[in-house]
Amino acid sequence: MVNAISIKGLKKTYPNGFVALKGSDLEIEQGDFFALLGPNGAGKSTTINILCSLVNKSSGKVLINGVDIDKDFDLAKTYLGVVPQEFNFGFFEKVIDIVVTQAGYYGIKRDIALKRAEKYLKKLGLWEKKDNKAMMLSGGMKRRLLIARALIHEPKILVLDEPTAGVDVELRTTMWKFVRELNKSGVTIILSTHYLEEAEELCKNIAIIDKGEIVENTSMKFLLRKSNHQTIILDTKDKIKKVPKEKDYEIRKIDDNTLEIKFPQKIILSDIFAKLKKEKIEIVSMRNKRNRLEELFLELTGGELE
Ligand code: ADP
Repeated sequence: MVNAISIKGLKKTYPNGFVALKGSDLEIEQGDFFALLGPNGAGKSTTINILCSLVNKSSGKVLINGVDIDKDFDLAKTYLGVVPQEFNFGFFEKVIDIVVTQAGYYGIKRDIALKRAEKYLKKLGLWEKKDNKAMMLSGGMKRRLLIARALIHEPKILVLDEPTAGVDVELRTTMWKFVRELNKSGVTIILSTHYLEEAEELCKNIAIIDKGEIVENTSMKFLLRKSNHQTIILDTKDKIKKVPKEKDYEIRKIDDNTLEIKFPQKIILSDIFAKLKKEKIEIVSMRNKRNRLEELFLELTGGELE
C-alpha cells in the first residue's frame, strides 16, 4: 500500500531569503494518526501549505497517496482535506453555501453536496446554523465549519493545522472525539500542534520539527520510552532548611516549601522520597513540571517551549 504522504528532500526558501525548510523527509502511513510537532516558527504550516499548494516548494518531492503533486495536483488534492489555522472563508457567506461551494471545486454534484453538507454539519453540531452568515458563528463553531468544509469531498487524509489554538476545553473534547471516529473509519489524520499533551494523547506516530529540520520521526510509544528525564515539583510539609545534595539527580529549592527535582528515568520515585524522608523532608504533594514529551522535546532541541 502506498503511504498517505511521502515527502523527500523538501526545501523552502521564502522570497525574502528565509530558509523555512532545510530538506525534510517524511513518510506517513495510511490510517495513521500523525503529529507534526514543533514550536512556533518551526516550519509546520509551511509543510502543510506546500501539501495543499498554498505555498510553492523550492525543491523536493511530495506524493499524496502516491500521486506526485508536480505531476497531477488536481488528483493529489482530492485525497487531501485541510483545516487551516486561519478562518479563510467569506464572513458574509452562509454556512451551508461555504460547504456546498467547496464541493463544487471538487466537481461534486449539487444534490450529493447538499446531502453530505447535511451529514457533516449535523455531525459537527452546525446544522441549526446552516442559514446563518459565518460571521454570526462563535469561534468554536467557525473551527467546526472549517472541518465540515475540509470533509465535503470525503478525503482519505485530513490535515489539521493547530486546530485547537484558542479553542475551549469542551470543544476540544468533542472535536477530538469526532476526529478519532474519522480515524477509526480509515481516514489518515495529520495534526500539527505545539500542544504536546494533545499529540501524546492522540497520535500514533510523530515527527518533531525545529528550525526547518525534522529532528525526530518515530512512534509516540518509542519516543516516550526514549525520554531520559523527568522533572517533578514537590511541596513540602515544613520549611526546607537545607537542600540535600544528591549525585544521581538535581534538587533545586524553588521557595521555602517547594523543591524541583530532575531525575533520570532509571531512578525510582520511591527512592527519592525515602532519601528526602531521611533528611526530614516530608512531601505533601507532587506534580510533573512538564509532561514526558515536553521534557523530551527540550532534550532534542535544546530550546525552550513557548
Ligand atoms: P509553524 O507553522 O511551525 O509555526 P511556519 O511554517 O508558519 O511555522 O513558519 C516557519 C518560518 O518561516 C517562520 O520563521 C516564519 O516566520 C517564516 N515564514 C513563514 N511565511 C513566510 C513568508 N511568507 N515569508 C518569509 N518568511 C516566512
